[in-house]
Amino acid sequence: MWPICDAMKPVPPSTFSLRDSSVLVVGAGMVGVCVALDLLRRGARVTLIDRRDPGQETSYGNAGVLARSSLMPLNNPGMLRDLPGLLSNRGAALRYSWRYLLANLSWALPFAANARRSRVAQTATALDQLIQLSIPAHKALIAECGQEDLLAEKGWIFLYRSEVSFGRAGLLREMLSRFGVAHAALDGPGLRDLEPQLAPIFPHGLWVQDSASVRDPGALVAAYARRFVAEGGVVQAGSVAALAPGDRPGVVLDGGERVQADHCVLCPGPWGKDLLSRAGYRVPMAFERGYHRHFQGPADPGNTPALGRPIYDTAGGYVLSPMRQGLRLTSGVELNGLEAPENHAQITRAEAAAREAIDLGPRCDDRTWMGARPTFPDSQPCIGALPQAPGLSVAFGHQHIGFATGPGTARLLGELLEGQSPPIDPTPFRPDRFIRRA
Ligand SMILES: Cc1cc2nc3c(=O)[nH]c(=O)nc-3n(C[C@H](O)[C@H](O)[C@H](O)COP(=O)(O)OP(=O)(O)OC[C@H]3O[C@@H](n4cnc5c(N)ncnc54)[C@H](O)[C@@H]3O)c2cc1C
Repeated sequence: MWPICDAMKPVPPSTFSLRDSSVLVVGAGMVGVCVALDLLRRGARVTLIDRRDPGQETSYGNAGVLARSSLMPLNNPGMLRDLPGLLSNRGAALRYSWRYLLANLSWALPFAANARRSRVAQTATALDQLIQLSIPAHKALIAECGQEDLLAEKGWIFLYRSEVSFGRAGLLREMLSRFGVAHAALDGPGLRDLEPQLAPIFPHGLWVQDSASVRDPGALVAAYARRFVAEGGVVQAGSVAALAPGDRPGVVLDGGERVQADHCVLCPGPWGKDLLSRAGYRVPMAFERGYHRHFQGPADPGNTPALGRPIYDTAGGYVLSPMRQGLRLTSGVELNGLEAPENHAQITRAEAAAREAIDLGPRCDDRTWMGARPTFPDSQPCIGALPQAPGLSVAFGHQHIGFATGPGTARLLGELLEGQSPPIDPTPFRPDRFIRRA
């Protein structure tokens, strides 16, 4: 257990106690649904507001991996080493809009500075704690909700197309060993034993056994939301236009209705920046946009499934996950504004690379989905009370791991709100390290 210093404590109204108090949670993605359920179970009366049904945004379209290996942030020494190539802006893993990057230097410069080795070790420690807190909690919730058929506990595989690229991933293997994440290096035949449908173009693989995956991420969020309602929580449809002014926490919906409570928790994922900016806060958070497409897989897979587990083709810059909807191909990172027009060049290139690796078959439909991973400069989410804002907390900015870390986020926030000593060090996630009054 970690002690909490005064600055970590929420700033509640003087009479605030979680039990029997009213709490409003904005955003019914994986994070908001887990927060709502956790606070309900602590005795609060909780209303969860979203403009869409639960789990329809970023938490729907992701790759579904619950990965211990995600303790390694995108901004790591490998990113700095590859910077000259990345600047060409034609790579598979990372693209960017120059205009967006220049307008967001207050994010980009510290993001790059945090890629140095010494800093990454701290980030990995913080993320690993959150991930370790989350994955057993996910498994427990999945069982409570009777959704075991959505969960596969077979790990996931990093694929390397050359000796050189496998050699250059040494830091990842070192970190996995240091943090006790079970993994195994595979040669070509070993890879094909695990995934017989893969073409023999990968001389090396890294099987991260200490990971699981979910076959329909949106459906899992919906199942958690049904559980929340079954236990007495309220889901309200509504689009939040602004935070309500005045002493009592709350929001104003499109149309003018005010919804207020004793405490309000904002879990709006990528939209957190806009919502808080309109309330006068500076939020240096960027959007790592990503796309997905669904494919039918091999026409005649024989007795083996198209894929037994998600794969990450490190050169192709995509993740391919077996889902209920088909094989889901998710693209790498595109740094751009949330509302900027979609650009399908990266996912189209990822599709071509994936077709080299496996018989993808035809697309299931014409749709290309787009979502945004919300990322702070240190790749750690903001979880906790907002300074100078009585009764207001946040939980967003979970970059590539928000689907996996919803339950741990909820537990950490719940313990902080109750004034308990939290199960992991909350300091790396303090909102006031970035979110400040403008
Ligand atoms: C391509 C891609 C692949 C990914 N793969 C993985 C993966 O394999 N594993 C993993 O752990 N993570 C992955 N992620 C990241 C993960 O999806 C996100 O971190 C996570 O879904 C964020 O959850 P959230 O609840 O914070 O946000 P969201 O799921 O976006 O939920 C936010 C909710 O808030 C609502 N909302 C926002 N503003 C308002 C408003 N003003 N009024 C009312 N409602 C509002 C939205 O409608 C939405 O439902 C991936 C992301 C992408 C884009």
